[in-house]
Formats: sequence, C-alpha cells, structure tokens
Amino acid sequence: MLRALYIGVLTSQGRFDEAIEYGVEFYSSQDADQGYEYLSTIEHALGKAFLEIGDFEQSKRFLLLAENRLRNQGLDENLREIYPTLFKLYYSLGEFDSSYQYGKLAVEHTEKFARDALDKSMVFEMAKSKYLDFENRLAIAEKNSLEAEYKYKQSLVFLGWSTLACVLLVLTVMGVQRQKSKIKASLETDTLTKVLSRVSLMESCTKAVAEAKRREQPLSLVVFDLDLFKRVNDTFGHAVGDWVLKTVSSVVRTSIRDKDILGRLGGEEFVICLPNTDIEQARQLSERCREGLERIISPVAIENLDISASFGVARLDDTVDSLDKLLMTADKCLYQAKHLGRNRVVTVLEDEGTGDYKPSMGLCSLQAELVQTPLK
Ligand code: GH3
Ligand code: MG
Ligand code: MG
Repeated sequence: MLRALYIGVLTSQGRFDEAIEYGVEFYSSQDADQGYEYLSTIEHALGKAFLEIGDFEQSKRFLLLAENRLRNQGLDENLREIYPTLFKLYYSLGEFDSSYQYGKLAVEHTEKFARDALDKSMVFEMAKSKYLDFENRLAIAEKNSLEAEYKYKQSLVFLGWSTLACVLLVLTVMGVQRQKSKIKASLETDTLTKVLSRVSLMESCTKAVAEAKRREQPLSLVVFDLDLFKRVNDTFGHAVGDWVLKTVSSVVRTSIRDKDILGRLGGEEFVICLPNTDIEQARQLSERCREGLERIISPVAIENLDISASFGVARLDDTVDSLDKLLMTADKCLYQAKHLGRNRVVTVLEDEGTGDYKPSMGLCSLQAELVQTPLK
C-alpha cells in the first residue's frame, strides 16, 4: 500500500514521469496475492499520472482496470475516489456523455458515503440519547417508586387513623342512640306497669281514632279503674299496691290483641283503645279482663286481698267523634259502674237492653250532653 501512496505523492507533486516509471515498474512485478485493493490503488495512481501528462489512452486503460477490479469486489468506498478521475479523463477526451455518467456516479457515491458516515454518527447520537433517555427514565421511575412507597405508607397511616376515628364515632353515635332510645322508651312507657305512659297513650289513641275515621272502621275505648284501691294501700302497704298495679297491667295485656293500645291514664286508672272493634266486642273483652282481675292470686303472705276494677266502654260514632269525647263518655260509664257497686262493665248501649245495667243516661242523652259540654 505504501508503494501506491508513494506514486500518489509523486503525482501530487507534479513528478508525473517519476510516478509513472515507478508505478509501471511495481505494477509489472505485481503479484495477484497482494490484493485487489492494493492493485486498484496503484492502477488509480497510474491513471491519474498518465492523465496529467496527457496520455489519455494509458490513463483510461489503468483507470478502467481499477474500476472493474473495484466493481467486481464491491468496494464502493474506493470507487468513490476513482470516479472523479474518470470524470476528468472523459471530460479531457471530449466524451461528455461518459464524463457526465462518471460525474454523476462520483456525486452519488460521495453522497452515499457522506450519508453512511452521517447515519453512523446519527445512530451513535441516537443510541447515546436513547441511553440518556433510558437513564432519565430509570431515575424518574426510581423517584416515582419512592414517592409511591411514601404515599402508600402515608395512606396506610391515614387509613389507620380514619378507621380508628370512624370506630370511635360509630361507638359514640351508638352510645348516644342507645341513650336516646332509653330516654324515649322511658318517656313512652310507664316505669311501674310497663304499659304506655299517659303522653304516648294519648298519641297512639289519637292516631288510632284518626285511622278509624279515615277507613270508616269501628273503634271502641275502655277506661277502667281499680276498686277501692286506697284501701289496698292502706291495708297492705304501698309496695303491695305497686305489685297489684303491675299484675293488673300484665293480666290485661295478655287479654287483649297486639294491635290494641293499653296505657296508664294515672294512679290506678287505665285505658284500652280497641281499633276495628264494635261496642259489643269491646264489652265482651272488658268482661274477660274484669274476670281475669278477679282471679288474680295474691302473694302467700297476704290474706283477704280482693282485686277488682270497674269498666266504662264508649264507641266512636257520629256524635262521639274524637278522643276527648270518647274518654269523657267512657268515664261517665265508669262512674255509673262505680255508682252501681263496682266490679262491673258499663257501656253506652246498656240502656238499649243489651246488658244487666240500665244507666240513668242513655246513649242519646250522653251524646247530647257531650255536645253541650265543650271539651277543655
Ligand atoms: P274507687 O273504687 O272509688 O276508685 O276507690 P279508690 O280507693 O280506688 O279511689 P281513690 O281515688 O280514693 O284512691 C286511689 C288510690 O290509688 C290513692 C293512691 O294512693 C293510690 N295510688 C295512685 N297511684 C299509685 C301508685 O303508683 N302506687 C300505689 N301503690 N298506689 C297508688
Ligand atoms: Mg279506684
Ligand atoms: Mg281512680
């Protein structure tokens, strides 16, 4: 290769004759084993030198030899260097078509080589930027994962505290609700007898009366009062009196239906409101209760404890059309029951000959009196 370079140097120095002499000498002693590239380089150098001295025939001969050799071997990069010389040769020969073809090939190969070089450098740059990009991504991923881990830990702590807060809140609300329902139950229920207290008794009865009127269904109301209860207290003591009140309530409760309303009006006076029940059914029910109270067995230590009650029964109709009027009518009947000797049931229908008792005031006179006496 050094020989080829030396010929090139001589040519570039304008020492064409020396270059040719030297080149031809080496070329004639050529050895095919020295390689195509080597030979084509010497041929190219000789071609250039002959061209410079104006020996176009020799120049053409060596240049075409070199070109064929390089083409056969596909050495594009070397061809790129030889095409400008061929362009120059044909131009000098006045063969402009060939000159144009070689010029074009020279440009194409130069461009291709430049592009290859550019591509190579671009590939490197791309690889580099991809590497940097990858490095950045790694850093970002690491940062994100650290952040995610931190957030996860934070959310665990938050979850723990919120769960605790929720549990405390639920417990507090449950406590308050329990307290509320206790208070509500104690307000609704009479603490001694466990039947409805006066307030909730009035509420429930008012609703039942309104419902009966809306549905045009019968409704009866019973007021009963323990007989000579003061004597029970006086004879056996207040505790026994309380026991009697509790037992009476429980006996009556078991004698009526679930939908019937039982409440304590006050002292030893109770009310039973009977929805969807006519006056005769109410009378029968009151009678069953009265008999039930008579059968109450007193505690062993107590002798001669007689328990009984008097009952007054009213019904909802066109004249007695409110809870107040029902209570007043039933109370008048109760008064009649007491007046007639206690331990009995009196209804507003007694004057119609359906029962034992004929009250002094019949149904019509009772209703007339109620209408005349406005309720307070
Ligand atoms: P009557 O047959 O006419 O109703 O006579 P009575 O003795 O039952 O009526 P009175 O109104 O004279 O007496 C009612 C008594 O009921 C007076 C009161 O001491 C008693 N009493 C009221 N509430 C309670 C209570 O909660 N416990 C007890 N043990 N007694 C009560
Ligand atoms: Mg009484
Ligand atoms: Mg009383």
